[in-house]
Amino acid sequence: MAFKIVASQCTGCSACEPECPNVAIYEKDGVFAINPKKCTECIGYFDAPQCVAVCPVDNTCIIDPAQPRYQASA
Ligand code: SF4
Ligand code: SF4
Repeated sequence: MAFKIVASQCTGCSACEPECPNVAIYEKDGVFAINPKKCTECIGYFDAPQCVAVCPVDNTCIIDPAQPRYQASA
């Protein structure tokens, strides 16, 4: 599970925060971050990750390879 935000590229615009269906995005020290325990990659809500869709900075909301891919519960 989980996307992450590249903190060094995040402008702190906050566009992503209200779009997350899982309330996984939070602000910390002026930039935003994703709680990997809450992120479902938008599976079950949208066809595409909403944080990626709304972020104005390319490649800032990205899959976190350190986290296992989200598996929807049966
Ligand atoms: S991929 Fe979806 S669930 Fe995960 S942080 Fe982005 S908006 Fe939230
Ligand atoms: S939309 Fe992108 S630039 Fe804006 S707060 Fe979210 S991650 Fe940062």
